[in-house]
Formats: sequence, C-alpha cells, structure tokens
Amino acid sequence: NVRTRFAPSPTGYLHIGGARTALFSWAFARRHAGTFILRIEDTDVARSTPAAVQAILDGMSWLGLDADEGPFYQMQRMDRYKAVIGEMLAAGTAYRCYASTEELDRMREEQRARGEKPRYDGRWRPEPGKVLPAPPAGVEPVVRFRNPVEGVVAWDDLVKGRIEIANAELDDLVIARADGTPTYNFCVVVDDRDMGITHVIRGDDHVNNTPRQINILRALGAEVPLYAHLSMILGDDGAKLSKRHGAVSVMQYFDDGYLPEAVINYLARLGWSHGDDEIFTREQFVAWFDLDHITPSAAQFNTEKLNWLNAHYIKHSDDARLAADVASRLARRSVDPETGPRLESVVALYKERVANLNELADAAELYCVEAHPSDELLAQHLTDAGRAALASLKARLADVAWEKSALNQAIKDTMAEHGLKMPQVAIPLRVATLGVAQTPAIDAVLEVLGRERVLKRIGRYV
Ligand code: GLU
Repeated sequence: NVRTRFAPSPTGYLHIGGARTALFSWAFARRHAGTFILRIEDTDVARSTPAAVQAILDGMSWLGLDADEGPFYQMQRMDRYKAVIGEMLAAGTAYRCYASTEELDRMREEQRARGEKPRYDGRWRPEPGKVLPAPPAGVEPVVRFRNPVEGVVAWDDLVKGRIEIANAELDDLVIARADGTPTYNFCVVVDDRDMGITHVIRGDDHVNNTPRQINILRALGAEVPLYAHLSMILGDDGAKLSKRHGAVSVMQYFDDGYLPEAVINYLARLGWSHGDDEIFTREQFVAWFDLDHITPSAAQFNTEKLNWLNAHYIKHSDDARLAADVASRLARRSVDPETGPRLESVVALYKERVANLNELADAAELYCVEAHPSDELLAQHLTDAGRAALASLKARLADVAWEKSALNQAIKDTMAEHGLKMPQVAIPLRVATLGVAQTPAIDAVLEVLGRERVLKRIGRYV
C-alpha cells in the first residue's frame, strides 16, 4: 500500500517547485490507489508563519491536490519526538553530549589546523571499554545519534539511481538541542516512520539528508522507504528558479489568470514525460504517472508553454465555469457583474481570443461599465462622418430584431445610406459601445451587449 507525503516548511509561499513535488507525490499515491499525506514542517518557529501555512493550504486546494491524511503539524508532535529520543537514549542508539559550543569550536579549529575536515570527534560517544568523563555540572546536554562508523549507506534512488555515502563522512548528528527540542532531520524520520511512508518524493536539495535519515530509521528498526529526489527547476533563463523570475507563489498564477488545470498540466510535464503528449487531463496524468519517466536532469521553466496551455484550457472550458471565475475577478475590481449582460455570453465571445482569465475579465468589464474612450480614439473614429453614421444606425437599432443577422443588416443599410465601408461604421460603433477599436465581430458584440446598453452608449455621442 503506497503512502506518500508532501512536507512543506511554512517559511514561505507554496512555490512552483514545491507544487510540482506535491503534484508528483499526490499523483503517485493516486496512481497506486494509495494514501497522500500533508505534513506541515513548522518546527522552525522563527521563520514559520500562519500566513505561509494558509498560503500552502490555499495553493494545494486551488490545484486540487487533496490530502487523504493531514495536515499534520510537527509542532503538535513534539511529545512524540521527545518520547522517541528517550527510547533511543535507553537503547543506546543515541547519547548525551555535554561539549560546549566553545569547546566544539576549538575542536574544529584544531582539526582545520591539521588539515582535516571538521567533524564531531565522538568525545561523548560511548564505546565499549571507553570511560567517559563525569557530566559537567549545570550543563544541559544535546542528544546525538550514534551513527555507524563503518560501511556505507546506500539507496537506489528512483530518479537518480544508486547513491552511496561512506559512514565515515557522517558524524553524530544532534537530534535534540540542549533545550530538548528535536532537530529537523530527526522529526522527518520519526514522521516518515509513524506515517508509514513508503515513497519519499522530494526535492534533491534533501539528498544530503537522506543517508542520515536512513541510518536513524535503521537504528529505530523501521523500514526504510524508497526515495525519489526530483531535480531542481530552472527559470526561463537557465538560472535556478527564484523570485527574480516573477511568479514564485502558486497563488500568483491564480492572480495572474491561470486555470489550475493549465498549471497542473504544465507542472506534470516539468521533468516528467509521457511520450510526446503535451496536453492531458488530471485523470490521464494519474493513470500514466510513474517515477521511471522523471528526468534526473534539471527541468527548465518555459512561460510560453504555460501560456499556451492556459489559452488551450480557457478555450475548452465550460462557459458557466469561466463566467463564475470572471464574476469573482470583476467583484475584486469592484465591478458589479450584474450591471452587464449575462457573463456566459460575454466569455463565449472572448474565450478563444484571450491568454488568461484577467484578459477575459478585462473584456467582460467593458460590457459592465460604460467605457470612456481616450481622446485619441474619439478624435480618430468619432468624426462628424462617424457620428452621422452612428445616428442613423441608432435609429435602425431602436426597433430591429435583436439577433446577429438583423443587426448585421442594419449596419449594412447604414453603410449603403452613407456610402461607407464596413470599418467606417464598425469602428466608431466599437469605440462608442465598448470604448476600444478592436473587438470580436461587431454583430456578435451588439447581440451580447443588448439593445438597451447599445442605444444608451451610442446616445452619448449622437
Ligand atoms: N520540509 C522540507 C522542505 O520544505 C521537506 C522535507 C522532506 O520532504 O523530507 O524543504
């Protein structure tokens, strides 16, 4: 039974890299009818904030990455970690170290002076036949893990292949600070064990933690999960993805008018592939997802491709759903969507022409709020001839049947009457009704905008 987890630290927003890790962990669990767990690693109290926790939960829910268990919060599991530390002390797999910071600094300095790599020299590590000094009075010890000294820690990483680290490279990790609080790697281990995690899918910035975590898991007699370390994501420019690349928070993509399915589809292809397939549904992704097709090399972010997917998904979205999204975007701009025509008909007119939902909302806003065209547009298009054409068109529109072919005929009759070409009527009409010179087909625009609004808006100029 597959059990995966996503374990973000709430020290910042859910960024694109984290969202991809979450997606892969979620999809792997779904693919194998397993369990996906959300665990908030909030033990870095100084840097963790409730706002960041909320942003993570919001991002996950926007992307539809629903957890089967959790969210669990590490800060609520402190008693558990302390209990395990007690068990390890009793079992001799951990020990108390009373060395002061100054003493350890001196030790490292001496090691460096001898040309050695600084590492804890095991001065408080119990060994058979070794006599330890008496614990100094008044010193609260840290607790260290008794790391094996010989052999190698090895695992077959499901992305990177076999990785081996000599135990001689790892010193005895502090698992509890002098104040008794457990340290990061230790909490991860206890949680992965308690939560029965079978597959740890995470960023490869954690590769260096893995041998230590495996050693502690073994010392606890726990089964070691399989590990899949995902390569980092590079920005469009090939540099490591960072704030410089603009949208780092997943919710920024929401603000920028992306559909979650476009982001999901995009992230799915970021370091994973299924032949040449570019566009697929969430269900297809779950059915296809495997760890074998994750590339071990870094994936490069490509905003153009994301935009292309977004346009695709908007075009193929249901009008009612787009209308609901646009309504909330308009409300956030303090535009009352009720003041316009039915939003479904507006979005149907524009959904094939926009790159994102904000552009769709921009278009819808023109239908809700009377536009104030720029002086330049007015001077250019609402000339005397333009206004004269609009005046006679207005008379025709007052009692024409309100559907495209009749509206089109009214425009043609106006052209004929004034000896004008289509743009000479249509563009002034666009400027007068929507305040812009370019719109979808004018008859469709009029039909959607409705007689009352059209007459009122034209009436401002003739
Ligand atoms: N909390 C870690 C992070 O946000 C992830 C730990 C893990 O997946 O093991 O980078």
